[in-house]
Amino acid sequence: MVNWPDYWNPKTETMPREELQALQLLKFQRTVQRAWQDSPFHRRLYEKAGVTPDQIKTSEDIQRLPFMTREDWMECQAEQPLFGDLITRPREEAIRYHLTSGTSGRQPLRVLDSRKDWSWIGEQWCYGFWGFGVRPTDTVFFAFSYGSFIGFWGAHYCTEKMGCLVLPSGNMNTEGRVKQIVEMGATVVCATPTYALRMGQVAEQMGIDLKKDGKVRRVIVSGEPAGSIPATKKMIENMWGAKCGDTAGMTEIGTIMIFECEKQPGGTHIIEDHFIEEVLNPDTGEPCDYGERGERVVTSFGRGFIPLIRYRTKDLVCKVPHTNCSCGRTGDIFEGGILGRVDDMKLIRGTNVYPRAVEEIVREYPEIEEFQIVLTREDNIRDEITVQVELQPGYSDDNWDGLQTKLGSDLADNHEGLRFNVTRANEGELPRFELKAKRLQDLRDQ
Ligand SMILES: [Zn+2]
Repeated sequence: MVNWPDYWNPKTETMPREELQALQLLKFQRTVQRAWQDSPFHRRLYEKAGVTPDQIKTSEDIQRLPFMTREDWMECQAEQPLFGDLITRPREEAIRYHLTSGTSGRQPLRVLDSRKDWSWIGEQWCYGFWGFGVRPTDTVFFAFSYGSFIGFWGAHYCTEKMGCLVLPSGNMNTEGRVKQIVEMGATVVCATPTYALRMGQVAEQMGIDLKKDGKVRRVIVSGEPAGSIPATKKMIENMWGAKCGDTAGMTEIGTIMIFECEKQPGGTHIIEDHFIEEVLNPDTGEPCDYGERGERVVTSFGRGFIPLIRYRTKDLVCKVPHTNCSCGRTGDIFEGGILGRVDDMKLIRGTNVYPRAVEEIVREYPEIEEFQIVLTREDNIRDEITVQVELQPGYSDDNWDGLQTKLGSDLADNHEGLRFNVTRANEGELPRFELKAKRLQDLRDQ
């Protein structure tokens, strides 16, 4: 047995916080300087705010700089197609082009990466994969479409870099994927949390017991907040007989900025030698304390083509100190990973409803295979919230009434008594997702 080290980058991952913060300041100053020189977009932004790079002298000075938003980015792209004037290098120097997955009606963001950027992107994933116990002897299966969405692309190169045996599966359907995972003895599987559950369900239908017939010991998820919901994780772990670890990234960064370590502290470590992750009150922009929920605002040091400085992500997070984990890493933790989106809160008859909170409750019921949340407006006045659930094949009708009542009351108890309608969908009726799951339909404005 090889005695592998515990950390991918022991020096920075266990660096005392004071040194870490000094390193961040140095990298921050360089990043701002570079953006000022090479990105007309940033130069314009800073000139308008009356700040110059030489005014950044302490860590607190980050607050002098204006935010960067997705809207600004889209606008500069529309004015100067295809990439806007925030790219710092001529297009010829790029080796990769990707697009945000985009929601309907929105223009996707277009991103370019150089060879150096691409190697940095893989490196960030290495922190996460190594941190969750992946080693060069592993066989890693990617349940991923390998398309224009950046998704697990960087993770693919990370596992190659580590020396794992890598199994891509862009062309396969779910049955084919399950078969290959078993046949090749994959030890690590990467997917969205929703799709990890889906593969488990399909395996069961195929008569395959992943715990006995498969060799998977780690399921690494990304792409949805559900990766840190305890009940969802537990379902995945029980199905696969493996530990399930969360990671999160975004196309605007190109890679991940947080990952769960093997100690599974109930959250994800921030890769602080490559990112500054601020948590701010979304309304006032004031910094939040540890333990307070707010919006993630990210600065990335590594992507040369696209400077990302104080970018408002609209992700909802809650930062806690690194001492909440026993692994020895000094990077702070987002408790519960990405908690949702600042703007995905729905107001139903005066009560706040977050889709993630609903999922946390629904996933306590292992007999529920898939679900949807539907919002409607009755008689033009009264908002109704309905949770449609699809049950496991072969579920006995006799138990339905009890489940319907219990789920309805669990949901109400967690939402100030708000009444939820719970209805049963037919087998195979609800949509299944491979990429970002969309489980909420708001039909109120139609
Ligand atoms: Zn840890």
